[in-house]
Amino acid sequence: MRIGYGWDSHEFKKGIPLKIGGVAIPHGKGLAGHSDGDVLLHALTDALLGAVAAGDIGTFFPPSEARWKGADSSLFVKEAMKRISHAGYAVGNVDSTVILATPQLGPHAPKIQERIAELLSVPASAVGVKAKTPEGTGTANAAVAHVTVLLVSRPKDEPARASVAEAVPQVEVDRLVEKVLRDVPEPKRAPKVKVKK
Ligand code: MG
Repeated sequence: MRIGYGWDSHEFKKGIPLKIGGVAIPHGKGLAGHSDGDVLLHALTDALLGAVAAGDIGTFFPPSEARWKGADSSLFVKEAMKRISHAGYAVGNVDSTVILATPQLGPHAPKIQERIAELLSVPASAVGVKAKTPEGTGTANAAVAHVTVLLVSRPKDEPARASVAEAVPQVEVDRLVEKVLRDVPEPKRAPKVKVKK
């Protein structure tokens, strides 16, 4: 078994869509960020990566890279799921708390729970989603998320149940190819090519 913990915060800004836990929530303001600003999925990604000591969200998706601008954060969760699957683990359960003044998250919690369960290939009953207001912390214009995950060993003969996670996003493939090409040393001269006459 492994335990993981993740935390994230984003500031509210007017005129951008609000997405929490992969669910679009109608509100006058959204969470500003390089990606779609989904504070809960970012904390979840860090919790998953942390559980297998695989770095953090910034390791895989640096905000300096233009390609992650406006990215759907479920992509980050899927990548983290691949890491835990390759390390021989599956998600046992996950618990989360989102702290924000408005909007009320309660009415959206079941949908968020379902979406996260889908991303993690677990039943909705294995996903805790709780909301708190930031009493006395002076962070009314921000959303904060805390997530803990418990990973369980995946029996060797059991196929990876992270079917969603196994779908490698094309951007990630491109990135790997780029890295491989970068690491290949330039040949000193062009190799001789024998041409059949
Ligand atoms: Mg973030």
